[in-house]
Amino acid sequence: MKMAIKEARKSKAEDKRIHPKVGVVIVKGDFQGRAFRGEKGAGEHAEYTALERKYPRKSIAGATVYVTLEPCTTRKHPKTPCVEWLIVRKVGRVVIGMLDPNPQICGKGIRRLRDANIAVDLFPPELMAEVEELNREFIHEYETVLFRVPIELNRGAGANLINPHYSNDCQHLDDSDFDLRTVINHETILIVVGDGLAAALVDNPVAGMLRDEIDRFGGGRAFRRAVLIGCNRWLTDTALKAKKYPTISIGGSAANQLTDIIVKLAEASKSIWPAGKGGFGAFIKQEKPRVALWGDTAAENRAAVEHYINSADGLASFLKMCWK
Ligand SMILES: [Zn+2]
Repeated sequence: MKMAIKEARKSKAEDKRIHPKVGVVIVKGDFQGRAFRGEKGAGEHAEYTALERKYPRKSIAGATVYVTLEPCTTRKHPKTPCVEWLIVRKVGRVVIGMLDPNPQICGKGIRRLRDANIAVDLFPPELMAEVEELNREFIHEYETVLFRVPIELNRGAGANLINPHYSNDCQHLDDSDFDLRTVINHETILIVVGDGLAAALVDNPVAGMLRDEIDRFGGGRAFRRAVLIGCNRWLTDTALKAKKYPTISIGGSAANQLTDIIVKLAEASKSIWPAGKGGFGAFIKQEKPRVALWGDTAAENRAAVEHYINSADGLASFLKMCWK
């Protein structure tokens, strides 16, 4: 373990950004292999360096691998995450110096190894503290991520807080020269929010809640998701306005004109109902169903959305209509 920490100290960063310092020691019988991050190539993870660059032909089945940082579970395509390299090489046990502070990996590396029947242990507390101290800046990066999302936008993690499909969307849109049909279709729910500052501050987070709930119902299927869009954009975009997309409008008519439009049509068919504490809902069925959820205050807007998410004849039955 101490040797792995020694290796970690040698890590080379590939650019000016903060990267973890990671060392690996592989022990099997008399054999002892070592590697550190960036040893053989810029940005190359230590486990990859050891398994694929330094000892690709060595039989290490059953070996114990000491690694100072939890092995990664996701890497940008086409790179293979380090856990998979460890599993392919059938190592017997992995001893880890610290959890990955990246919320997209933290704990998942351990679980993936355990699922593959590889024993997992942690360094003893005083050595874990040493590894954490060595990576203090790296940990700090993730601990502060929520407070500076704009910088994180460049790195993926923060972007996924705003759009859970960010990485996929980037890939599809860039590959297709921004052809929207690669990311949405007639099953995709448009969530329309007001464009003003107040809507941005208090309705967008509520819309995000609804978006996550719809994505959850969608179960990861590519188009069964929701996307957020501002009402001015929606009103002027004929493709979106066309009746083929199911739509949910959030926020009162003062902030969001689409709510006004839906409510007027719903009044005629008498499909307006009280929703939550002071909130309201309205429904119309054009080619696709459309719903408005609103109240007089920000809290009532939220109550209306929560009520819709939780009631049996609310969101669940709306999605049943959309996703036959
Ligand atoms: Zn890795």
